[in-house]
Amino acid sequence: MRYAVDRGLPVAVQGTGHATAAVAAEGGVLITTAGMSAVRIDAAARTAWVAAGTRWDQVVHAAAPAGLAPLSGSAPHVGAVSYTLGGGLGLLSRGFGYAADHVRSLDVVTADGRLRHVTPDREPDLFWALRGGRDNFGVVTSMAIDLMPVTVVYGGVLVFPAERAADVFAAYLEWTATVPDVMNSSIALIATPDCPSIPEPMRGRHTVQIRIAHAPGDPAEGERLVVPLRTLGPLMDTLRVLPYTEAGSIHNDPVAPGATESGTAMLGELGPAALDAVLALAGPHAPVPHVVELRHLGGGLARPPAVPNAVGNRDARHLLNVVSRIEHSGTGEIRRAHTRLFAAMAPWSTGGRFLNFMNGRDAAGQVRSAYSPADYERLTGLKAVYDPRNTFRLNHNIPPGRVPGGD
Ligand SMILES: Cc1cc2nc3c(=O)[nH]c(=O)nc-3n(C[C@H](O)[C@H](O)[C@H](O)COP(=O)(O)OP(=O)(O)OC[C@H]3O[C@@H](n4cnc5c(N)ncnc54)[C@H](O)[C@@H]3O)c2cc1C
Repeated sequence: MRYAVDRGLPVAVQGTGHATAAVAAEGGVLITTAGMSAVRIDAAARTAWVAAGTRWDQVVHAAAPAGLAPLSGSAPHVGAVSYTLGGGLGLLSRGFGYAADHVRSLDVVTADGRLRHVTPDREPDLFWALRGGRDNFGVVTSMAIDLMPVTVVYGGVLVFPAERAADVFAAYLEWTATVPDVMNSSIALIATPDCPSIPEPMRGRHTVQIRIAHAPGDPAEGERLVVPLRTLGPLMDTLRVLPYTEAGSIHNDPVAPGATESGTAMLGELGPAALDAVLALAGPHAPVPHVVELRHLGGGLARPPAVPNAVGNRDARHLLNVVSRIEHSGTGEIRRAHTRLFAAMAPWSTGGRFLNFMNGRDAAGQVRSAYSPADYERLTGLKAVYDPRNTFRLNHNIPPGRVPGGD
């Protein structure tokens, strides 16, 4: 950082490279944290100390022997620190809230080259901004986070043929309105590649997949709650009691970073007209193959955290995430298809977006929608304090605004 600061060079940070958010630029400095991989568990305090380059699966496996779990997401191989700084919408989030809501402290190198230990009491503004503002305020070298007393989830996936998308989506939406906060789920319409590692009922087909993670709580209660979905008659049903260490199998996300274009929108309450709008543009007849996913929000995600942070859009009920791999189609074609899909969903959009799911070329212009207008204003003011030259600009950028209290 000091090398870059002394020469006035912009700095980008990369953990695993799973997001296309950080881009090295000619003349910029790319700091990769991949070699900084370490976890320490404090079982009595129910916390983990996690170094910058650590992946979630390392934290999950380190915490499990103590009967604890982090608030990790669908993919165990993404970076724990960056996921958390971007909000962190996880498999247990409806019960516990965003991962960013459960950070105890952060160590960060700011744009002046100083290493700071940031807690709610020491540097409360920076502590607020980093949790949601991600890579705009410094390079986080480690974080201390809460762990939850979770060892198992009742979860897995129910797979249906895409031809049944309309009735399965409708039944799913009706069901989400009835479930308690400990039931986490999403539904996705997926063009699955024709590849031997994919189970036969899904291979090379368009399918609808309902992903379930019920925890904390009695797995038998989870099993009772999913009865209305099971009675829809899936092609494949993997629901069972899973150790949290195997929870990555629920979404079965690709392990290696891939080249994708994606878009995201926070949505309010959805009804049949919203489903018609999605299904008219997605599915087997879509011009480019997408993953179109709706994640159920609400519960702990709607509640303000004990220590406020910058994560916005807590009023949303669902999150729409659309991902297309660019090896399948040209980026122009994908972007036109995504634009049509998001335009069709505009009547149900809250206007917000989720930072961790913002990728692709349009993301740069969408950053402010991850926050409330007042929080965005506060973030630009704090950026002017902590990074006035916008050293961290090769990212989803929050530009420096007016220094709080300044002229
Ligand atoms: C398959 C898949 C599934 C996902 N599922 C979820 C999910 O369920 N919930 C969810 O919330 N998100 C999810 N994400 C999004 C993921 O959390 C973000 O893309 C996250 O930022 C990835 O972090 P990374 O370190 O792996 O990637 P990177 O591409 O290395 O980093 C991503 C961003 O974080 C910044 N960053 C990295 N390290 C640091 C650091 N030490 N200090 C400051 N900034 C840093 C980078 O500059 C970059 O802008 C998923 C992503 C993928 C690819």
